[in-house]
Amino acid sequence: MNTLVVPEMGIIDDVERDDEDHGYERDETDNCHRLGALLKRLVAESDARIPVERRAPRTLADMRARIHRAAGRACQDCDGTGGETKDTSSGGVTRRTWHSCSSCRGTGESR
Ligand SMILES: [Zn+2]
Repeated sequence: MNTLVVPEMGIIDDVERDDEDHGYERDETDNCHRLGALLKRLVAESDARIPVERRAPRTLADMRARIHRAAGRACQDCDGTGGETKDTSSGGVTRRTWHSCSSCRGTGESR
């Protein structure tokens, strides 16, 4: 005798139910944040071994400051960077915002 097994629910419903049985799963962005933190720490550790005057500028602000300092026209309030990045990260959310220097209006150049 042949017995045909009839699914109670559709295939998609079975897959969804199986997926829901796994419960809440964190997404892969956690790994991206961990990798970012690791790279940031490695860069900081590597930079710490290099004298300040020999470090490679890593950001646009660093590059701008290097040019303005070499030309002797760096803003005294921001040291030629044109501003600063403020970090208000919390609860696993990264928030970094650029704040332009009001003295030089973000140019990094003394007036
Ligand atoms: Zn400035």
